[in-house]
Amino acid sequence: MNYLIDLHVHSNVSTHAYSTLDELIQTAKNKKLLGFALTNHGSMAPDSPHDYHFGNLKIFDKYINGIRLFKGIEANIISENGETDLPKKYYDLLEIKLCGFHKGTPYGNGKDIVRNTNAIINAIKNRELNIISHLGNPSYKVNYEEVIEVSAEYNVAIEFNNSSFTTSRLGSEKNCYEIAKLCKKYNNYISIGSDAHHSMFLGEFGEVYKLLENIGLDKTMIINSSINKVEEFINLHK
Ligand SMILES: [Zn+2]
Ligand SMILES: [Zn+2]
Repeated sequence: MNYLIDLHVHSNVSTHAYSTLDELIQTAKNKKLLGFALTNHGSMAPDSPHDYHFGNLKIFDKYINGIRLFKGIEANIISENGETDLPKKYYDLLEIKLCGFHKGTPYGNGKDIVRNTNAIINAIKNRELNIISHLGNPSYKVNYEEVIEVSAEYNVAIEFNNSSFTTSRLGSEKNCYEIAKLCKKYNNYISIGSDAHHSMFLGEFGEVYKLLENIGLDKTMIINSSINKVEEFINLHK
């Protein structure tokens, strides 16, 4: 496997990430990637940029220096009703709308599996996202089958996040295998992201490849395979 588009990347406007947009573009060139999504944290996370960061992505064309820049966000679920901090006025501008649970947000702790499940399903039904980020996070357990079935119905992609296997959200691996099997059953769209917080991690998907190969997921459902495929996926949610 070798996917050349990374759909989950942070720049240093999220202060626990360390590379500028220019450094990410240059690294993408060096690694011969086709593009990436810039998905900084929504405003309810403790170290996120102001919503102006997302609105002003309008200044960029689709391509910078030959690299397709997908304008994006990693929004936060903030209530059981499925509210998020996605800035609604930028819905059409933002192409990649990741959303998930994050520490330090008004959602609070994620110990209640029913509340977590309702929150994600309501966010999907409210059209707050097109990709669920790091669903396997053991701190926010959900009923995976219910969420994956609704995601399939609404064409929402399930993300496999390389950093869940390396430095973040320890204990995700077992959950990610369970999720991958369910994605196979319900034929979900799949999105692959590095969740890079520094340019050196951009496009690094080695751990996700192992999982996808072990489970034998249908490659046609992986949206990262071409720029066209990502754009077609985005258009499903217009
Ligand atoms: Zn982060
Ligand atoms: Zn992230």
